[in-house]
Amino acid sequence: MKRDAFHDNGGSRSSIAAPVPPKGSSIVVLTDLDGTLLDHDTYDWHAAQSALDLCRLRNIPVVLVSSKTRAEMDVLRRTLALADPFISENGGGIFFPGEMAESPPQQAQPERGLWKWTLGSPYGDVVSALKRIRKRLKWKITGFADMSVDEISTHTGLDRASARLAAMREFDEPFLVHSPSRPDERLLNEAASDEGLSLSLGGRFRHLHGKSDKGRAVEKLLAWYGCRHRDLVSVGLGDSPNDFPMLERVDVPILVRSTKEYPDLGKRIPRIRMTRLTGPAGWNEAVLEILRDALP
Ligand SMILES: [Mg+2]
Repeated sequence: MKRDAFHDNGGSRSSIAAPVPPKGSSIVVLTDLDGTLLDHDTYDWHAAQSALDLCRLRNIPVVLVSSKTRAEMDVLRRTLALADPFISENGGGIFFPGEMAESPPQQAQPERGLWKWTLGSPYGDVVSALKRIRKRLKWKITGFADMSVDEISTHTGLDRASARLAAMREFDEPFLVHSPSRPDERLLNEAASDEGLSLSLGGRFRHLHGKSDKGRAVEKLLAWYGCRHRDLVSVGLGDSPNDFPMLERVDVPILVRSTKEYPDLGKRIPRIRMTRLTGPAGWNEAVLEILRDALP
């Protein structure tokens, strides 16, 4: 296998070669959005178009796995012409498009044109918990529920229409800690844990959500795919700590290069490889290379 698409020196790449999907295996690609398939600043994906086209041509599912909302992701997956399931809000929900050829799992309920498998805690409960955490720690914390659409737009760089979709949350509250400037992570984790909730770190925000995360949701979705496809090989791509539980559970984990470094990630996920390029350009190279080696 050529290694052109991957970073060669140190970084998060371990000395153990990542497995190459055997030729002829069924492949499913699971991908984070911001900073991975979408550019961190512009949210553009066109640098990944060639690999997306190849996935479509070869009927390889591309499962979007994001902290974004169902409302945002349903628009995006239609724009990308994807009819595959997607995972919203850090594993809070798995959504199955109505036009999908396969039947959704029994746990999914029909809701506004999609089948929804709920894994996360209700958004109202999460927002109430964040208010209690703010009071307990006496920190200056702002969540999406505290922000106007214009403020969400300012903090995310999304236009107003997209920021409105980002505010339509069901499971997960993104938030910023303004002070202290270096918050004690242990205190924050303790407070979230006492509320029966979990924290994740994305590219822009911290997130408070139920016990589900990207990894747990991916595990459930892969079990569903596994019942339908023999020799299923999962390829996962992400750029931030909230992606690590997903990358731990896939056969071929890829860290998409960003401005941040995770030198210890190779210990946690020995098979991890890091792309040479950042964002969608790195995604494109990595997916093309993996598919070139795996497709018959
Ligand atoms: Mg990301």
